[in-house]
Amino acid sequence: MSANYSFEFVAGALCLDFVNTVGARGPSGSRNEHLNDYSDLVEWACQGAMITKTRAAELLAHAARNPNLARRVFGEALELREAIARVSSALAGGHKPAPADVAAINAALPRALAHLEIVPADHGFDWRFREVDDALDSITWPVVRSAADLLLHAPVRIGMCESDTCGWLFVDTSRNHSRRWCTMGDCGNRAKARRHYAKRKSS
Ligand SMILES: [Zn+2]
Repeated sequence: MSANYSFEFVAGALCLDFVNTVGARGPSGSRNEHLNDYSDLVEWACQGAMITKTRAAELLAHAARNPNLARRVFGEALELREAIARVSSALAGGHKPAPADVAAINAALPRALAHLEIVPADHGFDWRFREVDDALDSITWPVVRSAADLLLHAPVRIGMCESDTCGWLFVDTSRNHSRRWCTMGDCGNRAKARRHYAKRKSS
C-alpha cells in the first residue's frame, strides 16, 4: 500500500470517504490510487475506526489463508466504490445516475443488510453490523448502507471539490450549499495561494 498513507475522513458520509480513497479524481488530475490490495481495505477501515485492530488482524489472517478470495473481494470493493463514485458525481453535477451503477449498489445491498442488527444504546437502540468471522467483505457492508442512506436522503446535496485535479466528493451541509472544497486545509488553501500568486504576478 501507499506507505504510511493517512486516509481522510472528511466527506461527511462514509461512502464518500470510501470514494475519496483515490486522490486526484478531478478532470485534470492523474488518479492516485490508495487502495492497492485487500490489506489496504483493512487499513482504511481501521483508520476510520470501523473495525478494531484485533478484528483487522483476524481479517488479514483470513485473507492470507484465502488469497484468491481476498483478491476477489478486493476487486468487488473497488467496483462498488466506482459505482458509488459515478452515481454521486452524477448527482453532484445535477445529472441522472446510470441505471447500471444504481444496480451495482443494489446488488451489494442484500448481503450487507442481512448482517444488520439492533443493539441497546444510551438512548434507545443503534444499528450495528454483526461480526461474521470469515466475512472478508464485511468492510464494505457499512459503505453500502451509507450509500443507500445518502441516496435516500436526497435532497442532501453532494458536492464535488472545485479543484480541477482533486474531484473529491462530500456532503454539502452548508446553508447555501456553498462548500467548495473537500478540505480547506488542502484544496481550499492551495486555491487561495494560487489566487494570491496570480494577483501578485499581474500587479
Ligand atoms: Zn479537494
